[in-house]
Order: sequence, then C-alpha cells, then structure tokens
Amino acid sequence: AAKSAGRNAFHFFRPVFAEQARRRLELELALREAVDRRELSLHYQPKVAASDHSVVGFEALLRWNRGEEGFVPPDRFIPVAEDCGLIGQIGAWVLAEACGQVARWHREGHGWQRVAINVSARQLAHDDLVGMIREECGRQEISPRLLEVEVTESCVMANPEQTGPILKGLRDMGVSVAIDDFGTGHSSLAYLRRLPVDVIKIDRSFIREAGEDASAEAIVKTIVDLSRTLDMGVVAEGVETFEQAEMLAGIGCGILQGYCFARPMPASEIERRWDE
Ligand code: C2E
Ligand code: MG
Ligand code: MG
Ligand code: MG
Repeated sequence: AAKSAGRNAFHFFRPVFAEQARRRLELELALREAVDRRELSLHYQPKVAASDHSVVGFEALLRWNRGEEGFVPPDRFIPVAEDCGLIGQIGAWVLAEACGQVARWHREGHGWQRVAINVSARQLAHDDLVGMIREECGRQEISPRLLEVEVTESCVMANPEQTGPILKGLRDMGVSVAIDDFGTGHSSLAYLRRLPVDVIKIDRSFIREAGEDASAEAIVKTIVDLSRTLDMGVVAEGVETFEQAEMLAGIGCGILQGYCFARPMPASEIERRWDE
C-alpha cells in the first residue's frame, strides 16, 4: 500500500512542481527585462516623529509594474532576484534612483530628510556597498548623511563577523544603519551591543498585535527600552491606527511609520503634499 501511495503521490505532485518551476522561470525572465524596460520604480513612505508627526525621513520601497500583469509585490520578486543573481543589478539601480531623488529634492529646497534603502543579504555579502554608495553620492553630489541603509536582523545576525565591518564602513562614511524587522530574527544581545547600528526598526507583526496581546506589547516596550539602553534610535513599522501611535509615543518610541500616516507613494505625490 505504501508503495502505491508513494507512486500516486509522485504522479500527483510532479505537475505541481513543474508548474511552480515554470512560473518561477517566467518571473525570472520577466525580471531580467524589467530594468531595461523601465518597469521598476521606487515609492517613498514617510517616517514621522512620534511627538508631532512631522516627517523626519522616507523609506524607498521597490515597485515592479508588469503592465497587464499588474504590480508584483517585492516579497515575491526580491527572493527570485536574490536566487538568480539579479539582485546586484537591481540593488545598484535602487541606489542610483534613490540618490538621484535625494539630490533633486535637495536642489529644490525640500530640506535634508534622510532616505532609507533596503539592502538584501546577498548585496551585503557580494557587493562593495561602501564603495558603491561613496561613488553614487559623489556622482549626485549629496552627502552620505542623507542616506540610511536598512538590513534585516536575520541577515545581520546570520554572519555578524562579516557584516559588522561593512556596517562600520557605512557608518564611518556617515550613512545611518538600521536593523529592519527587528524581533523576528535571533539577535545575540552581545553582538547587537557591539554592532555599529544607529536605528532599530520594530517588526510590524509586534505592532499589529500590541493592541490585543499583552505579551506583544511587552516585547515592543522591551525593544524600545533596549534601544534607549544601547543609545540607538527606534522606529515602529506598520503603524495603522492612532491608538497604536499613541501607545508607541507613550512608551517612548521616537519614530513611527505606517498607513496611519502615509502609504508608500511615488515621489511626485510626496512633492504634491509638500506643496499643499
Ligand atoms: P520592509 O523593508 O520591512 O518594508 C516595510 C513593508 O511594510 C513595505 O512593504 C511597506 O509597504 C509595508 N508597510 C508600511 N506601512 C504599513 C502598514 O501600516 N501596514 C502594513 N500592513 N504594511 C505596511 P513592501 O513595500 O511590500 O516591501 C516588502 C519588503 O520587500 C520590504 O520589507 C523589504 O524587505 C523588501 N524590499 C522592498 N524594496 C526593496 C529594495 O529596494 N531592495 C531590497 N533588497 N528589498 C526591498
Ligand atoms: Mg525596510
Ligand atoms: Mg521591515
Ligand atoms: Mg520586511
């Protein structure tokens, strides 16, 4: 019976795997052309001060518009880009685009707000991020102090001996370093203390649950206290309601980001809001 079940299972699953593989290959091929076809763009989501809700910076978030197929979410195509080695090219595009935007906003007198870019594990491991950022800032004539790099906690902690010096190089240049999705990985507090990190971003799963779940709220408070102890800034991501915003302000979380204040939007829309 086991043998026939195994054989049936084989026949049953094979087409599913084949279909998945075909879809993934199709996504990879389309992604290879996306850069050339100008299908990629950046949206910018404001980060606001918890005290008065003034905008203190932005996070650049990658968008892929496949035309008739619509928008493909980054959580779907970034892992593909990482696997097939396209992330380097895409990451370089994101950096250049974000720096260009920062330079334009600055020339137009919109002030000195920081723009954060997300950097994946593979970029950190394989690309000379420090050199790339120095070069791009030089080309655009902007200070690296206008940039922040967000790396996920799991990426940093997977190999702290290797990532530590890169983060230090970024920081020495003036780039702010943020640990993204904090609380979802396995941080060693001993490493965290020694790492050159400026900002901790609390993962939005804790913010979402904090209103209903006492332990999630306790975790948020613990992370806020930890950031203060380590002399780091702290950002709450995924803030969707004013209740959450009030709670976060109450426990001393300095910066908030989420739909409650603004969704990620094209640069043109940010500018329209400034002009209002
Ligand atoms: P992330 O860096 O943690 O970005 C925050 C995500 O939360 C974004 O999703 C943002 O749109 C979403 N978000 C913001 N506020 C709210 C809220 O109030 N509620 C909810 N439910 N969501 C909110 P998005 O844009 O889909 O990006 C997903 C992930 O893709 C990012 O997570 C980041 O890990 C990755 N990603 C995006 N752009 C890039 C990029 O240029 N390079 C790399 N390597 N990764 C990127
Ligand atoms: Mg991020
Ligand atoms: Mg995040
Ligand atoms: Mg994330």
